[in-house]
Amino acid sequence: MEWTETRVDQLRQLWGDGLTASQIAEKLGGVSRNAVIGKAHRLGLSSRPSPIKRKMIPLAAVSERMCQWPIGDPGDPEFHFCGKPALHGRPYCEDHCTAAYRKKSENSTQAAANR
Ligand SMILES: [Zn+2]
Repeated sequence: MEWTETRVDQLRQLWGDGLTASQIAEKLGGVSRNAVIGKAHRLGLSSRPSPIKRKMIPLAAVSERMCQWPIGDPGDPEFHFCGKPALHGRPYCEDHCTAAYRKKSENSTQAAANR
């Protein structure tokens, strides 16, 4: 099995499409998975981010910006977090930032009396 220009082109194409090394080996035929990995590495294609990593990063970024206000009882199967976009630098959305603030001032009878 030789790496002809056509096969190298196919390898680049399939690699870029996000196929795994074994899927590429199957498509090209007559080549092992290890040979595909080796060739991709020599072509500088191996730095492709894995599909798992690609999915994880946006998920983590999204959850940090979501409102963490708990809705329902933590023991309840319906329990979830608000999930609306949180205000910049806050763990909650606009509504729940207001709610959190109100809760605090209600706890202080002094603050209520001064209003
Ligand atoms: Zn919220």
